[in-house]
Amino acid sequence: MNRRDLLQRAILAAGSASALRCITASNTRARVLRSGVRVERDRIIRTVVGLRPYRRSGFVVRAEKLGDKLLIHNYGHGGCGVTLSWGTAHLALDLAFGWPGRRAAIIGSGAVGLATARLFQDHGFAVTIYAKSLPPETTSNIAGALWLPVTLVDHEHRAALKDQLERATRFAWRIYQNLLGDRYGVRFIDVDFLSDDRDPTLPREMDPAADLLPFPPLRDSPFPTRFARRMHTMLIEPAIYLPAVLADFRLAEGRVVVQAFENKDALLQLEESLIVNCTGLGARDLFGDEALEPIKGQLLVLMPQPEIDYATIGPGDLYMFARRDGIVLGGTHEENVWTLDVNEEEAERVLTGHQRLFAGTSLQFNR
Ligand SMILES: Cc1cc2nc3c(=O)[nH]c(=O)nc-3n(C[C@H](O)[C@H](O)[C@H](O)COP(=O)(O)OP(=O)(O)OC[C@H]3O[C@@H](n4cnc5c(N)ncnc54)[C@H](O)[C@@H]3O)c2cc1C
Repeated sequence: MNRRDLLQRAILAAGSASALRCITASNTRARVLRSGVRVERDRIIRTVVGLRPYRRSGFVVRAEKLGDKLLIHNYGHGGCGVTLSWGTAHLALDLAFGWPGRRAAIIGSGAVGLATARLFQDHGFAVTIYAKSLPPETTSNIAGALWLPVTLVDHEHRAALKDQLERATRFAWRIYQNLLGDRYGVRFIDVDFLSDDRDPTLPREMDPAADLLPFPPLRDSPFPTRFARRMHTMLIEPAIYLPAVLADFRLAEGRVVVQAFENKDALLQLEESLIVNCTGLGARDLFGDEALEPIKGQLLVLMPQPEIDYATIGPGDLYMFARRDGIVLGGTHEENVWTLDVNEEEAERVLTGHQRLFAGTSLQFNR
């Protein structure tokens, strides 16, 4: 009996005859045994759309005087606001230390606002969050959300952002490791980078994190692509993580006020003398930052498959993240598109691309 037969028997004997699909390298003995994603049209449970708050020169963390108040900006995180949130919150906190007041108003309640609010609380500030919408009605709830500092800054601006980005990246990497586990919905996961045309390299934006995320070739890849590399990073489940951080904030006596601000002058009415702007794409209208532009992204979410415990990136811009609330299929980036309508053509491309990826391997499917 060969190894594949043994593994199959072991699975059946263990009674895991429920939906289990195993990927094996085609035309060979079973080198890798993995559950495969069931990319079937009737398994789609929702399609969601969000606008990444992108600035070609990267995020903004800086302080300015607004009347007699100190205004600290912390926005413009593009496609990695969940990833970097704790890191840029740390940069924002550094800018607040010289200020005499110990009461802070955080504007915004997405991943960036919540991390900033918690960090300020941990450093002795009494904090109120003011936000137009709270989770689950934020862009951060739409995020994938894999821990990867990408889709953040155009190549020619990377050097200017380097120091801040490096500090933010390392700090965020460290803080998320304190949040691993079911309570916050954060876990480490294998991510297979797949490509047909060339050996994948780390996106250059990830240079500051390159030593954190080793990237060796994947031997015995079960996927039908020519090249595969694997890294380990963290996956954050927004539907668990964001409410958990908001609950921590309230437990630490944080106040939440639902309020939309029309312009800067409205902020001057706040009682707090220290204000942190974490409004994401909202900063464009609120502060007239026309460098902020949306990159629209949409995700198809399939029925959860608890047996899947990995993610894939590629080929092309496709990606699959196995989350508890569903199998997330993504890979759309529409620059400067403001609508939240589903792009049906893109949805079809993402679905059929993943069908090819998971059908191209030799799949064994036991019900
Ligand atoms: C399809 C998709 C996939 C993504 N995948 C990932 C990923 O894998 N990893 C990752 O790290 N990131 C990912 N992102 C990016 C991530 O979602 C964003 O970078 C992140 O959500 C930005 O967070 P934020 O807190 O700045 O903004 P938001 O989540 O948009 O929060 C902004 C807050 O400010 C409030 N606000 C705005 N304007 C005003 C106003 N005038 N007055 C009062 N309140 C206001 C809003 O109500 C909200 O509470 C993805 C995004 C999309 C769309």
